[in-house]
Amino acid sequence: MLNADLHCHSIFSDGTLTPTALAARAKENGVDVWAMTDHDEVGGLAEARTAAAALDLPFVAGVEISITWSGQTVHIVGLQIDETNETLVQGLASTRGGREPRAREIAAQLEKIGIKGAYEGALKFVDNPDLISRTHFARYIIELGLCNNLHDVFANYLGEGKPGFVPHRWASLQNSVDWIRAAGGIAVIAHPGRYKFTDLAFDALFKEFKSFGGVGIEVTTGSHTVDQYDFYAKVAKDYDFLASRGSDFHGPGESRVDLGGLPPLPTGVKPVWHNWGW
Ligand code: AMP
Ligand code: MN
Ligand code: MN
Ligand code: MN
Repeated sequence: MLNADLHCHSIFSDGTLTPTALAARAKENGVDVWAMTDHDEVGGLAEARTAAAALDLPFVAGVEISITWSGQTVHIVGLQIDETNETLVQGLASTRGGREPRAREIAAQLEKIGIKGAYEGALKFVDNPDLISRTHFARYIIELGLCNNLHDVFANYLGEGKPGFVPHRWASLQNSVDWIRAAGGIAVIAHPGRYKFTDLAFDALFKEFKSFGGVGIEVTTGSHTVDQYDFYAKVAKDYDFLASRGSDFHGPGESRVDLGGLPPLPTGVKPVWHNWGW
């Protein structure tokens, strides 16, 4: 099967490598089709496309949009997008605008538990001033020596219910699918196994997503356990979703799975790339 890796992050969001370095790493690791999917941001795609072309690496323009659905944050990946589409560009700009005030609030809450200067501290790890994320705060908290890894930072400081967690309203599910479709792309629910919904809520999410024109779910991802690969393969079959595969690589030493490092999709699912000509 094609080694498709359709989910990763660069310094244009919360990854630690440039798009050029990611392209080189994808090629080196044997990726056959590569998509870059920064959070709420398409600014790195031109560089990624150029770097991939120079390496003869088939490239797919992508994005990972943060949304709020039924009180939880959900991520929707868009693939094969035209990143110059005005509807998409405007939509992403509007949702990114909420990040700066949220970051100030995160810093204020961390200050209350004795972590001073977190806003400035996080900014040291930010390349794109429009996209300050919890990952940047997490790197600062690690630098302070309060935790050893990202997992522990989210478990103790930044995850839901922890002192640095600030509830936030992102775009809507319909917004995200509309923007992706306006840009000619296909919408895929990212790492469904990470959300804490009841079976009933998951069923509603999948059906609503479909009714808006969403077509796929990630089945094999760095954010799923091995058991979840099979579970979501069955979901893909039951709901007639295309199946996607992506490492969700953020950088060396920060991600469980490297670019191109996932096992193949389980048998019996239809890959999102089935009609892409590769
Ligand atoms: P934000 O969009 O600012 O809420 O940040 C979300 C990002 O934090 C995700 O895209 C992940 O990269 C990272 N993240 C969330 N939870 C965890 C976790 N438990 N361990 C490591 N990284 C996490
Ligand atoms: Mn991330
Ligand atoms: Mn995600
Ligand atoms: Mn991601």
